[in-house]
Amino acid sequence: MKVVFDPRQTAHAPETYFRRGGFITHPEQPQRAILLRDALAGAGHEIVAPADHGLEPLYAVHDRGYVDFFRTAWTRWVEATGSTEAAVPNYHTGRREGRVPQGVVGQLGYYATDTACPVMAGTWEAIYWSAQSAVDAADQVLAGARMVYGLSRPPGHHASWDASNGFCFFNNAAAAARHLRRKFARVAVLDVDTHAGNGTQDIFYGDPDVFYASLHVDPADYPPYYLGYGDETGRDAGLGTTLNLLLNPGDGDAEIGLAVDRALAAIRDFGAEALVVSLGFDMAHDDPLSVVRCTADGFAATAAKITRFGLPTVLVQEGGYLGPSLSDNAVVFLNACDAALAADAAAG
Ligand SMILES: [Zn+2]
Repeated sequence: MKVVFDPRQTAHAPETYFRRGGFITHPEQPQRAILLRDALAGAGHEIVAPADHGLEPLYAVHDRGYVDFFRTAWTRWVEATGSTEAAVPNYHTGRREGRVPQGVVGQLGYYATDTACPVMAGTWEAIYWSAQSAVDAADQVLAGARMVYGLSRPPGHHASWDASNGFCFFNNAAAAARHLRRKFARVAVLDVDTHAGNGTQDIFYGDPDVFYASLHVDPADYPPYYLGYGDETGRDAGLGTTLNLLLNPGDGDAEIGLAVDRALAAIRDFGAEALVVSLGFDMAHDDPLSVVRCTADGFAATAAKITRFGLPTVLVQEGGYLGPSLSDNAVVFLNACDAALAADAAAG
């Protein structure tokens, strides 16, 4: 399978993350992408560089001021504070009330919901090319490819219309889904990351043409905490186009498989013509952020179901952290997709 990746995505390299009362090594390391790329290349998947699709695919899913903020945020931060440490916001707007202020310190907090998304010298370059990798994968599907994988890093599904969250700046999967809408009347996003895709839900909540189905750990006591509940089903014209399927800590392949089945059945009922998969590997039993226990067989089963579902499909990398099985699970997943595609082709 084609794997779209640009090495500039590694330019954002946060060192520390404040969590549960202490500083830890930031889980969202550039090494994640390097491990995935190298393992997939070693397994015979073709690594290709994305074309530059410009800013329009980002403006299509984000506030224009939010996108533009990141182009100059680092330079302005250094000028304003004299600091060359990673810019971590320490003022926030509360529940989105208030207005965009003029200065970079206030803007940093306006456009962020947490401390997980520091702005650094290489942040713009990394998040721009992460998004371009997803959009380019979608572009290849628009051009007729059956399935392409955008190896996007930093991840995207926690990024909302105008705020970063949970290691995510630009919503790569949302940009891919909007891009697919150029050709396909109805598109679905299936999110199999272990965390709720609160940003993707936010972006498409009122959109009748994009169905968002996610399986994830119950957010009642797990990030992202504030969205991703079972009674959130969309609003206005988009009512009925959001489906959150909750897992419990300790769940394994069986429970995950049932949730995938339910999500795909709902996507079928919606009438989706193309699919974006927010592909996290952080359901893995040995992922450092995981509280569920997906095995390699579980990932292979999900991959086969998604492929046999039969739609033009963009896979977009989301979470999955530096546990022992990260790159193995990516290889298992993509190999299972290719095997199912080959079986389909043989069956005619
Ligand atoms: Zn995640």
